[in-house]
Amino acid sequence: MANFFNDNESLKFHLSHEMMKEIIQLKERNYADYGKYDDAPKDYEDALDNYEKVMEIVGEITGEILAPNAESVDQEGPKIVNNEVVYARGTQENHEALRDAGLYGMSLPREFGGLNFSYVPYVMAAEIVSRGDCGFANIWGLQDCAETIYEYASKEIKDEFLPKINQGFTCSMDLTEPDAGSDLQAVQLKATWDEKSNCWRLNGVKRFITNGDADIKLVLARSEEGTNDGRGLSYFVYDRKHKAVTIRRIENKLGIKGSPTGELVFNNAPAQLVGDRKLGLIKYVMSLMNGARLGVGAQSVGLSEAAYREAFKYAQEREQFGKPIHNFAGVYEMLANMRAKTDAIR
Ligand SMILES: Cc1cc2nc3c(=O)[nH]c(=O)nc-3n(C[C@H](O)[C@H](O)[C@H](O)COP(=O)(O)OP(=O)(O)OC[C@H]3O[C@@H](n4cnc5c(N)ncnc54)[C@H](O)[C@@H]3O)c2cc1C
Repeated sequence: MANFFNDNESLKFHLSHEMMKEIIQLKERNYADYGKYDDAPKDYEDALDNYEKVMEIVGEITGEILAPNAESVDQEGPKIVNNEVVYARGTQENHEALRDAGLYGMSLPREFGGLNFSYVPYVMAAEIVSRGDCGFANIWGLQDCAETIYEYASKEIKDEFLPKINQGFTCSMDLTEPDAGSDLQAVQLKATWDEKSNCWRLNGVKRFITNGDADIKLVLARSEEGTNDGRGLSYFVYDRKHKAVTIRRIENKLGIKGSPTGELVFNNAPAQLVGDRKLGLIKYVMSLMNGARLGVGAQSVGLSEAAYREAFKYAQEREQFGKPIHNFAGVYEMLANMRAKTDAIR
């Protein structure tokens, strides 16, 4: 059976890093959950054993399901049906396999159904998933949004949304607009307080939104009239059940085609404020981006690992001048460089 964790000693090595003991102790708050939850570890060895077992499951699901599905997912891609994004068949299967294994909400505390994993195994899992299907890693990796809700939202919002993550409700982070890409201070999507309904209303357009039809959306919007920079922006959570967002189109990309990148119109969409007004960009999005950067980094390593293995396999199989091309110095040097660079970026 293919297992993308067990076949990768260089990745596994990171679990034995000398800092892991301290990292786990901090994340487990001196093992305070032990006895309260079935899966809570009693000590460092126990926690490490948990990490390894879960990584093996990620490795097996990726090797046996995600990777074999990747080609058909890329060819089929997602589509819009009745204003809803329908994933490719393989994407749906990937999603269900990881959800059923409890692999959404990996770093969330146990009280919200998470595994309370530290970032090391979470990022390792992101690399493994990316090696199997780099596009699917986007959808799965957006569970990061839960961290922002956990860190900054009110107790009511946490209780409403966080338990859903582990049940496989997907997320998106809705920042970019047609005229606000690198310059997020230019975001114009408008948030207005609706006294009658006791909620905020969102109106405007977002573009290039990964998993744009997600169940739970974190939306950056301008809540302060008369402002035109980052200090007028706040962060909101929107629930897909309101059906107040139109999916205008899905981008036709060069790669990661299984990951739907959508253009959306918010039509008076009801939403709740996350944290405090005016801190949307300068505090909450910045924090979310720190997690997203690790995810994108892991995605790059996973993709490099997959590319190296494909190239290595081909160079062993393909023969010219009566021997595998792997034996020629020019080819061998390229492979050695790929191997070294992949290990170095990890
Ligand atoms: C596949 C994909 C998925 C995405 N998913 C999401 C998502 O989930 N959520 C979301 O909100 N957004 C998402 N985005 C949008 C992404 O964040 C933006 O594309 C990005 O912020 C850049 O914005 P832009 O494309 O408008 O480029 P622009 O900002 O127009 O930049 C164009 C070029 O100018 C350069 N440039 C801009 N400003 C400067 C400067 N000050 N100095 C030097 N060079 C500069 C840029 O580096 C770039 O090369 C996604 C994009 C892609 C391609």
